[in-house]
Amino acid sequence: MKLSILGCNGPFPDQGGACSGYLVESDSNRTKLVLDLGSGTLSRLLELSSLNSIDALILSHLHFDHMSDVTVLSYMLDFYDIESFKVICQETPSENRRLIRGKLDAFPPQDLQIGEFAVQFTRVKHPVETYAIKIIGDDAVFVYTGDTNECAEIELFCSGADTILADCGLTSEVWAPSKPHMNPSGCARLARDSRAGQLVLSHLNPLFDKGKLLNEARDIFTNTRLAEAGMQIRI
Ligand SMILES: [Zn+2]
Ligand SMILES: [Zn+2]
Repeated sequence: MKLSILGCNGPFPDQGGACSGYLVESDSNRTKLVLDLGSGTLSRLLELSSLNSIDALILSHLHFDHMSDVTVLSYMLDFYDIESFKVICQETPSENRRLIRGKLDAFPPQDLQIGEFAVQFTRVKHPVETYAIKIIGDDAVFVYTGDTNECAEIELFCSGADTILADCGLTSEVWAPSKPHMNPSGCARLARDSRAGQLVLSHLNPLFDKGKLLNEARDIFTNTRLAEAGMQIRI
């Protein structure tokens, strides 16, 4: 399968950047899933795919840096001959969930088969209801951690993953067990202990030094790279 980074910032975009959004395509190109659609990602998605060929949008959680472009997607759908657009999302927080309406057809995050991909979920550690997402297909296993701090659930879920796309939203200096994100060392330990093939650090805060984040992670897990908008990664 192929992963395209539509945006990798959080909780706000960098200059010319975009928040969380990822396109996962099968090798045959017949199955396409979008994971999160934060600010600035819809325009980048449209450069890579038509809306018609997207099988589903899966939201890890309903924080705006992961879902704000869903609001303009619903405007866009009104102008297209598309009956409904499948969105997999949770019911909370209810004030954000209310923004998913119209042609956006919502389904709960439960294990399911979408085209050539098996999709699985596990609840992770974040202030609102948040799920890590696992995609299995094309003889590969991909895990997107969503937003989470370190927890037993994500450790178990990542076991056997070929590629882990991880929330590296904090530096080690400001990280604490009570915070909502991981730091580079935590992401790297997760990849090492899962025996993953590669680690991609995302949810990058524009105020933090990216080189420092990368070096810290690579000290623990060598095959680490930073997500970058426009980057395509083979899984
Ligand atoms: Zn976030
Ligand atoms: Zn969040």
